[in-house]
Amino acid sequence: MLKENLFNVKQKIEKACERAGRDPSEVTLVAVSKMKPLEDIEALLEEGQMEYGENYVQELCGKYEDVSRPVHWHMIGHLQRNKVKYIVDKVSLIHSVDSVHLAKQIEKEAAKKNLVAEVLIQVNVAGEESKFGLEGSQVEEMIREIALLPHVHVRGLMTSAPFVDNPEENRCYFRKLHQLFIDIREKNIDNVTMDTLSMGMTNDYEVAIEEGSTMVRVGTGIFGRRNYNI
Ligand SMILES: *Cc1c(COP(=O)(O)O)cnc(C)c1O
Repeated sequence: MLKENLFNVKQKIEKACERAGRDPSEVTLVAVSKMKPLEDIEALLEEGQMEYGENYVQELCGKYEDVSRPVHWHMIGHLQRNKVKYIVDKVSLIHSVDSVHLAKQIEKEAAKKNLVAEVLIQVNVAGEESKFGLEGSQVEEMIREIALLPHVHVRGLMTSAPFVDNPEENRCYFRKLHQLFIDIREKNIDNVTMDTLSMGMTNDYEVAIEEGSTMVRVGTGIFGRRNYNI
């Protein structure tokens, strides 16, 4: 079932790329494995799926220790400053940087470990009260500040669009974020490489790809529903 789901998602990604006249190699699929057992990851590893997204530091660290071969971990959930030290050397990308404060903590821990942390700036593109992330108008200024940190490398933007019945309702937000992404890329800020636009989840990743996403984060569509009551 898992492998079939993965295959179906990949096909839909290809179709969306076709519709948008894009090359499927431009879009990375992050399988969001939060609250799902390690066996599920092991099964997809056999299919060559290497990118996995996790929301919770403790869960990520546990799976990092236990997985049978190294994979690329993505921290996609809200990150508290006091937890940065646990993950900074374990993840290939932190999607959820939403303050200079947090970026400075990442700088500190990355410097200690003598590495450069790859990060995305989280944008609350629909201005939802319940969501983390910056307003679009604050993004460039924040990137310019973070760009001064030598052990933090900004790679692009990330958003979680609203939960809607019809993914078309989110098209305007994806388009808006893509435009912001391009605008900032054109500024050619030192120590910033705008090559990653992380947007699109199970409900809306096809629309997100049509609007320029380079990284989709799909959980339910691959692993099935999560049970939050355990
Ligand atoms: C859980 C989660 C996802 C995956 O959501 P699905 O709807 O299950 O695909 C993607 N991004 C973030 C930030 C998440 O927290």
